[in-house]
Amino acid sequence: MAAPRADPPAAYRGRFAPSPSGPLHDGSLIAAMASYLDARAHGGQWLLRIEDIDTPRVVRGADDVIMRQLQALGMRWDEPPVWQSRRLALYEAAFEQLRARAAVYGCACTRRMLSGGPYAGTCRNGLPPGRAARAWRFRVPDGIERFTDRWQGPQSQDVAREVGDFILRRADGLWAYQFVVVVDDGLQAITDVVRGADLLDSTARQRVLARRLGFEPPRTLHVPLILDEQGRKLSKQNHAPALDLARPVRTLLRAWRRLGFDTLDVDSADAFWERAVPLWGERYARLAITRPPGQLARGD
Ligand code: GLU
Repeated sequence: MAAPRADPPAAYRGRFAPSPSGPLHDGSLIAAMASYLDARAHGGQWLLRIEDIDTPRVVRGADDVIMRQLQALGMRWDEPPVWQSRRLALYEAAFEQLRARAAVYGCACTRRMLSGGPYAGTCRNGLPPGRAARAWRFRVPDGIERFTDRWQGPQSQDVAREVGDFILRRADGLWAYQFVVVVDDGLQAITDVVRGADLLDSTARQRVLARRLGFEPPRTLHVPLILDEQGRKLSKQNHAPALDLARPVRTLLRAWRRLGFDTLDVDSADAFWERAVPLWGERYARLAITRPPGQLARGD
């Protein structure tokens, strides 16, 4: 007789979703590492999605460089990577779904006409006479969006008032990040998003949009950003140096310490992951599945 089997672990699907605007640097490695550790600590899957939708920012070949960097550091994805630029029909279909439900509307406002604050809803009830739609916006429903981020704690945002109806299709015809990330997380059945804290502020709007598309919003964990000496986010724009792959263990351990852990005595990337995954699990897995994904944390 077969030995009784333990309950299967809760399904976990995570992802790392770099924009190929340059090689990974110390800042983006933190997000990659945290998402990888979290997926492995939950016995889950880890997917790689190349977010090359913003074509003017894409640097040719950066996707290959990023994949080589991840491999050199011992990170292995569980499904073939996807490229957003090859998924346009999926975005079109999701957009049509929203349009059929009047959840989007055309907007004629130019950048010059916008204050920079929340969108005032100028085109919400129709375009001004004689004006054509330039961009398409999501009609944000009223209400406060609440969720608990596994690192940053309880969050709430009144998306309609604090953000306003946000853009899904830009005036240049490109799909907006906020839209495609929600469609992809939904279609790829992502249960857990682990990424940098610069995107914490986008999470409430992504959750609202996900539900409108019929998806369960993923749980989130936003890791702190690394700042440079001037206190700016370490980023490709700020010319962060590329990762040192000649010394992978050193590179991994630096990111690991920045995530708040003590250094480890290891001599290979594989040995690093073997030690790091259970340590991450001790600290973060316990917090992970305290409620089903997407369920609002009542009272927080
Ligand atoms: N592509 C985004 C970036 O590189 C990340 C998107 C996400 O993780 O939701 O910053």
